[in-house]
Amino acid sequence: MVIDRINFLKDEINKSNYKYYVEENPYLSDFEYDQLFAELKALEEQYPLLKTPDSPTQRVGSISEKFFPYKHKYRLYSLDNTYNDEELKKWYERVTKECGNNIDLVCELKIDGLAIALTYEKGIFVRGVTRGDGVTGEDITTNLKTVKAIPLKLFEPVDVEVRGEIYMPKTSFEKLNEENLSKGEKVFANPRNAASGSIRQLDSTITAKRDLSIFVYSSVFENIPNAPATHYEGMMYLKKLGFKVNPNIRLCKNMDEAIDYCNEWATKRFDLNYATDGVVIKVNSLSCQEDLGFTSRAPKWATAFKFPPEEVSTKLLDIELNIGKSGAVTPVAILEPVHLAGSTVQRASLHNFDEIKRLDVRIGDTVLVKKAAEIIPKVVKVMDTPEHETLPVYIPPTRCPACNSLLVEREGEVNLYCESKNCSQQLTAKIEFWVSKDAMDIEFMGPAIIQQLYDERFISNSVDLYRLTMQDFMQLEGVKEKSAYNMFTSVQESKTRPLNRLLTAFAMRHVGKETAEILAERFSSLEDIKNADVETLSEIDGVGQKIAESVFEFFHDENNIHMMEELKSLGVNPVSKALPKSDKLAGKTFVLTGTLQNMTRDEASEIIKKLGGKTSSSVSKKTSFVLVGENPGSKLDKAQNLGVIILTENEFLEMIKEDL
Ligand code: NAD
Repeated sequence: MVIDRINFLKDEINKSNYKYYVEENPYLSDFEYDQLFAELKALEEQYPLLKTPDSPTQRVGSISEKFFPYKHKYRLYSLDNTYNDEELKKWYERVTKECGNNIDLVCELKIDGLAIALTYEKGIFVRGVTRGDGVTGEDITTNLKTVKAIPLKLFEPVDVEVRGEIYMPKTSFEKLNEENLSKGEKVFANPRNAASGSIRQLDSTITAKRDLSIFVYSSVFENIPNAPATHYEGMMYLKKLGFKVNPNIRLCKNMDEAIDYCNEWATKRFDLNYATDGVVIKVNSLSCQEDLGFTSRAPKWATAFKFPPEEVSTKLLDIELNIGKSGAVTPVAILEPVHLAGSTVQRASLHNFDEIKRLDVRIGDTVLVKKAAEIIPKVVKVMDTPEHETLPVYIPPTRCPACNSLLVEREGEVNLYCESKNCSQQLTAKIEFWVSKDAMDIEFMGPAIIQQLYDERFISNSVDLYRLTMQDFMQLEGVKEKSAYNMFTSVQESKTRPLNRLLTAFAMRHVGKETAEILAERFSSLEDIKNADVETLSEIDGVGQKIAESVFEFFHDENNIHMMEELKSLGVNPVSKALPKSDKLAGKTFVLTGTLQNMTRDEASEIIKKLGGKTSSSVSKKTSFVLVGENPGSKLDKAQNLGVIILTENEFLEMIKEDL
């Protein structure tokens, strides 16, 4: 019966609203919630008689009883959602029907935070209230006063109510979670929950310690002459008054331009340090907005284009154990296949066994899986379901699933390790890493071929790759002459890869791609590195004691010495990138400021380092030179005050020209 389904949807949505808005502990992913909501809306449209005033489609949000309720002077609304070009065009059709074809649109990023309304009287901040259910919100004025991006006094004495979104930068969210984790306190599922939880604290000193900010996105002015006639002008005026307006706002002439904006930000948003879940498209003319009006919960003059979900919930079918190139055992979640951000996800990272314990992940749980640009999906949360408590607690393994050796813990590390030298999974993982893009970059050699070569005993380590002949490749099942040739030649070509790649491929402990580059810039051969003692290694900028010890140990291990000799005899002869090092600038510290014309600041720093000098970010009495480009910052004033030598770019080039 339709009515049963409607009642079920209403109950489910109301329950989720409470968990999301009041408890800040959602048990559905946003995508699932949006699907239930869309289904209810569609049914109510089809059967209008079944639409009741208490339906969640007729109202926005919820409020908790923790704070004093405050009745909004002007109602706050939510937004209707669209998910694709077709829905956007339908919305645009409805809008142009009412307002004519020549309407401008404003596109803004949809910030994923907490909606609030700020009231200013004669330019002074007097009250801040959450959106709540749109009619009544929670008075959180004291807490909002701790958010530095909220002006307490405007540049003009106007009466205005400004709406905006409180958010927590992604990096601060991660830091807060790390700190909370170490103190055994609440860990937030996402930056939105963290922002909401932080701003809705009963103790405002806690809020003050949290890194919160705001972007404002609309306003209601009272009694001002020359009030803005368009939304865009209004936003620029808010900026002039001292508010933080998102810099990515864009005026668009038509829907095609707005769609371009949506496509552009669907990927660019991952570079931002704040969470966004879509684009809000608004009619620019305020008089058109007035003509279009509102539904019971959203303006008709705006729509939210939602980005594909980054988070979705699904069932955890199993936990698989992966042995990496270092022997680290990583648990991997095997999931009921689910569609997420444009692809089907079946596996997700669980990081390590501490993480499983922290999340209390159990096989059979419903888990929330998240995917951000190009990052492997990860399990971020166990959904709060009744089944969870009935499932057995996960117990980490004690033996390697591949070779059955006892797993060990290493001091100061969260992983469990298989330390066997003969573990097949570890050996193939090492070879896979050797051929990977960051290491020796051997094309045409995927994990399946490596496994086949290993299983058929053609190879047992990475050095063996260089012993393979065309015929060996051709003996593999399903490999034809052309691909055998491709694989064979790409292995041969890798023999002259630069030294940094070979050093990366060695997968020494604590030595990743960047450190390998540092070493390859300083030393011109494997021999040179072997001859360096720990002290010399540790003095290299960016290396330090721990890495130096690990490199030294690796280069003096008998097996590794043998491996390097074998590589040499097989013709693996890395090309050195190291420049002859001069110590012309030894003992000199440079500070760089302003824009240089002939090089970037990073390039200038590189040169200084290569010539034995150091760079620093601040000027002090110890600074030898301040290298000044165009539009220098306050560092120039400081240098002048302290009497530090100031170099122009030309003077700097003159100084180093013989060494370049
Ligand atoms: P919403 O977050 O989808 O959109 C409306 C809000 O967007 C506005 O209130 C405003 O605060 C915000 N916004 C951000 N940037 C804006 C901008 N530039 N211009 C205008 N507004 C901007 O709607 P909502 O009513 O706050 O919440 C509903 C959504 O919350 C659902 O779609 C769902 O994703 C999520 N939700 C999830 C659950 C769950 O259980 N997972 C439960 C309830 C709600």
